[in-house]
Amino acid sequence: MKIKIIGAGPAGLYFAALMKRHDPGHDITIYERSRRDATWGFGVVFSDRALEFLRADDEELYQYLTPHMESWPHLTIQVNDSCIPITGNGFAAFGRLELLNLMYAYVEKLGVRIEFQTEIDSLDRVDDADLVVGANGAFSWVRAQNEDRFGTRCDWRPNRFIWWGTSKVFESLSLTFRATGHGVFCAHHYRYSPAMSTFLVEVEEGTWKRAGFDRMSPEDAIRHCETVFAPDLEGHPIISNNSYWRQFPAIWNERWSFGKVVLLGDALRTAHFSIGSGTRLAMEDSVALFKAFKEQGGDVQSALARFQELRMPPMKKIWDAANVSLRWYERMDENLRTMSPIEFAYSYMTRTGRVNHAEVRRRDPGLAQAYEQLHPEVA
Ligand SMILES: Cc1cc2nc3c(=O)[nH]c(=O)nc-3n(C[C@H](O)[C@H](O)[C@H](O)COP(=O)(O)OP(=O)(O)OC[C@H]3O[C@@H](n4cnc5c(N)ncnc54)[C@H](O)[C@@H]3O)c2cc1C
Repeated sequence: MKIKIIGAGPAGLYFAALMKRHDPGHDITIYERSRRDATWGFGVVFSDRALEFLRADDEELYQYLTPHMESWPHLTIQVNDSCIPITGNGFAAFGRLELLNLMYAYVEKLGVRIEFQTEIDSLDRVDDADLVVGANGAFSWVRAQNEDRFGTRCDWRPNRFIWWGTSKVFESLSLTFRATGHGVFCAHHYRYSPAMSTFLVEVEEGTWKRAGFDRMSPEDAIRHCETVFAPDLEGHPIISNNSYWRQFPAIWNERWSFGKVVLLGDALRTAHFSIGSGTRLAMEDSVALFKAFKEQGGDVQSALARFQELRMPPMKKIWDAANVSLRWYERMDENLRTMSPIEFAYSYMTRTGRVNHAEVRRRDPGLAQAYEQLHPEVA
């Protein structure tokens, strides 16, 4: 098959790897508009559970990637001056650039071509392919120009966030909430290399406006957040990498393909970063699309139909959980005002409805016990 993939992110790269590894006869080209050494963002995080999924699907890739990861066994929730470590939640992280570089080397060794600095802006340019994969991220034009065909829904959420980094190396995956005169500031932060951490700041829309971020220069925004999070950064700077304030688009598509064109990864649907699953979901999409082709052979129409059938139920579950999770952050000011630090941490742990009290007790008996003292009715 002749396969053309638009976008060399985790989704496009992994799908190419799986197809080529299975059948070296496939002729696969990936088009990537960025330079080989350029990428946005800092680190990406995988939960232990996400890594187990990868291991179950692809032990070879798991063994290839995991030595390059930073990992830690617990999560820390910092609520102003109260620090609540939560056990039973293991995570691992990579630099996004490192992950992509490892994947570029992996697919190129298999014989896949990656054409960097090549922006594809029309389906006419890839019309000679048997299969065209739109793996060009959350702002995919393949999707945006064909919304009626895909049945696209896009819900722009009101919170504002910005993806920064810092040279402060954190001991665990951490969520820090600091109340200020303008409202609550939340930082999602974790180390992804021995010398760097991701430092993503999220605020409610009202906080963002009251703090004046809509009128503030990028440098002043950094200085403002360095002041808010001074106890956490301990003198380390916040570092920008094409960072800008944005809102999260919760994207869903009713139909995932038309003709020989299919969407994959963030182009297909986005999942809020607070569940740390965007990269995992993108890679699982690739596994499902690959399995559909393995099952249906070269029959593109049947394979694309099978892809949606196979992948929709598990993906919808995580997508729904991500949307519940993002709404929890949209109420963080109210929650912080009305809850004690223990209740706040417990509310965070149970926010998606997928973790009940028994599960909190299994993961972190100390937190469960502290919560039972405040709410004996749950015991
Ligand atoms: C602030 C933030 C924090 C995140 N944190 C995490 C996290 O902690 N953990 C996690 O797992 N995920 C995280 N994610 C999500 C994660 O980055 C994405 O879910 C994941 O990268 C999706 O992979 P993808 O391959 O679908 O798309 P992308 O990684 O977006 O890749 C798409 C690629 O397509 C290229 N492209 C776009 N248009 C064109 C074109 N016209 N022609 C050629 N190439 C094109 C782009 O340059 C890009 O390289 C985060 C996302 C954001 C925004």
